[in-house]
Amino acid sequence: MKSAGGLGRAGITLVVVYAALILAFTVIGMAVAPPDAQVGAARPANDIPVHLSELLAFGLLLGAMSAVIGGIRGLPLVILAPMLVVLLDLDHLPAYIGLAQPIRPAHSFVFIAVAVVCTAIVLRRLDLELALLSAFTGHLAVDEGLFAPFSPLSYGYVLLDQYRLPLIACSLAAALLSGYFLRRGNRGGPSR
Ligand SMILES: [Zn+2]
Repeated sequence: MKSAGGLGRAGITLVVVYAALILAFTVIGMAVAPPDAQVGAARPANDIPVHLSELLAFGLLLGAMSAVIGGIRGLPLVILAPMLVVLLDLDHLPAYIGLAQPIRPAHSFVFIAVAVVCTAIVLRRLDLELALLSAFTGHLAVDEGLFAPFSPLSYGYVLLDQYRLPLIACSLAAALLSGYFLRRGNRGGPSR
């Protein structure tokens, strides 16, 4: 029922829907956040390669865990998971082109709830919804500094760092479950 090709196509749809939602939350943040919350800044250029490689490495770990559990058909997740992890930082884009924006408008629990519901409606694949949840919580676990957990409903900023352990636990558990449901969804049970 679900081939590697099927996962690949569904993965591309997931990336497109996820990117569109990140940009939508970014625009909503710019429109509705109070001026004193529009203090999102671009990361210093020197820090970008280091942070990017941390995100990619953690995404690779998550994708590899899903693929180990999910079997050969889970291999696209090795590429998909790091892409999803990195993609979340699209919400810094306005700051890079010099526009005022809130801090990390899509790094929000409201955002991931909306993203999981939207991708569930579009894809109806529990394995990919879990991969998305894993990538999102994995990204937040790697990040440091301020975020607004309930943006765009509230732009009260708190430190991300205090959530690191639960975020890591959630991202690892969701990666394993993603692999499990991927395998279980395949016709005839575990693949050989
Ligand atoms: Zn980030």
